[in-house]
Amino acid sequence: MSDTDTDTDTGAGSHDPTSLRTPIVAVLGHVDHGKTSLLDKIRGSAVIEGEAGAITQHIGATAVPLDVVSSIAGDLVNPDDFDLPGLLFIDTPGHHSFTTLRSRGGALADIAILVVDVNDGFQPQTLEALDILKRSQTPFIVAANKIDTVPGWNPNEDSPINATYEAQSDRVSSRLDESLYEIIGNLSDEDFSADLYWRVQNFQRNVGVVPVSAMTGEGVPDLLAVMMGLSQRYMKEEMEIDVQGPGVGTVLEVKEEKGFGTTIDIVLYDGTIKADDQIVVGGMNKPIVTDVRALLQPRPLAEIRTESRFEKVDEISAASGIKVAAPELADAMAGAPVRVVRNRELDEVVEEVEAELADIAVDTEEQGVVVKADTLGSLEAMADALGEAEVPIVRAEVGDVAPRDISVASTAEEPKQRAILGFNVETLADAEQRAETEDVTVFTDEVIYQLIEEYEEYVDELERAQQ
Ligand code: GDP
Repeated sequence: MSDTDTDTDTGAGSHDPTSLRTPIVAVLGHVDHGKTSLLDKIRGSAVIEGEAGAITQHIGATAVPLDVVSSIAGDLVNPDDFDLPGLLFIDTPGHHSFTTLRSRGGALADIAILVVDVNDGFQPQTLEALDILKRSQTPFIVAANKIDTVPGWNPNEDSPINATYEAQSDRVSSRLDESLYEIIGNLSDEDFSADLYWRVQNFQRNVGVVPVSAMTGEGVPDLLAVMMGLSQRYMKEEMEIDVQGPGVGTVLEVKEEKGFGTTIDIVLYDGTIKADDQIVVGGMNKPIVTDVRALLQPRPLAEIRTESRFEKVDEISAASGIKVAAPELADAMAGAPVRVVRNRELDEVVEEVEAELADIAVDTEEQGVVVKADTLGSLEAMADALGEAEVPIVRAEVGDVAPRDISVASTAEEPKQRAILGFNVETLADAEQRAETEDVTVFTDEVIYQLIEEYEEYVDELERAQQ
C-alpha cells in the first residue's frame, strides 16, 4: 500500500494529476429501519472525533476524511494502511436519492449500506433496494440495525467483526427474518461484479452483515472499518481521477435559492469545477450550456445569522457535493449529467451530455402506459421494473402528471393502457379532472414495487370484468 509513499503528499495531488477520490457511499433500506439515525450517528461521531473543521461541509453529502474515520474506528483502521482519502456519505438516505445519483453507465454511489431493522427483517423497500443494488451492480454491506434492542446482546464483547462475532451474530440472525439469510445467501458473485463480491472475515455468508446500533453507536466503527477496508482493497483503481481535469458530476436536485435563482445541487465524481467555468447540464429538452455564476457551500452554523446560508468557493474537486448557481437552469433535471467544458471543445461536451441522456432515455413503444417520475434515475428504475413485469411504455418523462399525459393515455387502444404510473410525483389538479372525464386511471406511489402491484391488480380486475 503506502509503504514507499514516504512524502505522504496524498492531499491535493499537486504534482501528479492523478489522485484518489473518496468512495461515495449511499444508505438504503426500508422506512423507519434507521437510515437517517445511522447517517446522523456517523456524522455526529465524526464531529466529536474530528478536529474542528475536520469534516467538510458539502451540499448533499458529508465528507469524512481518513483521519476521522480512523479516530472513530480506533484499532480497526490504521491510516498508514490506506491511501483512499476517506468516505463521502450522501446525506439523503433512501433508494430514491440512490437512483437519482447515476453516473456514466450506472450508479454514482460506489458502495451502499443496506440498513435492516433486526426486529423487522426484510420489508418491501428493503427488497426494492436489493433489486436496485443488484441491477446497478453496486456492492453493499448490510447494517443489521437496532441491535441494542436484542435481548442478550452484549456490547462489551469484542468487536462484532472479531472472533466473538459469530457467537453474537447468531443472536442477531435469530432476530432477523429468515428471509434475510435466504435472500443474501442466494446472491452470488454473478449478481455483482466478481471483484466486488464482498465477504466479511469470520462471517461465512456472501454479503457482509455488520450488527450496529444507530442509537448507541455500537458497530459504527466496524461498519466504517469494513467499508474503508473493502474500498481500499477492491475499489482503489476506480477511485483514480484526474483531479485538475474538467469536472464531471450528476444533478442531485434543482432548487430555487433566494438571491441566486435556480440552482443545481450536484455531486462531482471526477475533476474540478471552478467558479468561472462554462458547464453543460442535461435539460428537459436539450443540454443547457451556461456559465457558473457561483459555487456555493453551506456556511458554518455559527455564521449563518449573517446574510446567506451559503458561502462562495473558487473551486472544488471530486468527490464532493456543491451547489452551482448559473443562469438558464430552470429546465435542468435531477439525475442528469453535468460537465465542465474547460480546455475542451464545447460541441464535444454537448455531444457527450446528449449521448448520456440518450443512454438513460427509456425505450417507448407504439402502445403502452404513461410513466412519470421525479428524476431520470427513478424513471429508469421504473422502466426496468415495468420491463420485467412485461408492461409496455408509450411515454416516459420526468415531472408531475400533467394534462398532456392524460391526453396521451386517453388514446390507448386497450383499456388497461389508459393508465398513468407516477413514481414520487404529484398529479396536477387540472390533470386530475381531465383524467376523470377522459377515463384514464392515475396511479401514484413512493415505492416502485407497490406502484406496479397496484397497477397489476387493476389489470387483473379489468380482465375479470371482461370475462
Ligand atoms: P429511516 O426512516 O430509515 O431514516 O429511520 P430513522 O432513522 O428515522 O429511525 C426510525 C426510528 O427508529 C426512530 O424513532 C429512531 O429513533 C429509531 N432507531 C433508529 N436506529 C435505532 C437503533 O439503533 N436502536 C433503537 N432502539 N432505535 C433506533
